[in-house]
Amino acid sequence: MPIFEFQCKKCKTIFEELIFSSADEKKTVCPKCGSKKSEKLMSVFAGSKSGCSSCASTSCSTS
Ligand SMILES: [Zn+2]
Repeated sequence: MPIFEFQCKKCKTIFEELIFSSADEKKTVCPKCGSKKSEKLMSVFAGSKSGCSSCASTSCSTS
């Protein structure tokens, strides 16, 4: 499921939305204040939290 995290630019609330297309991205509404101005946070899947891609160590400085 393509779930992305968004952060409201107005009240800084972080919420999750199901995104199937870039049009859905523009329709995200903050559940707290109703603002449509939010930014997409880095997906945990695409992030670098797993560490170095070659040695898998989080302390490796090559990546
Ligand atoms: Zn908000």
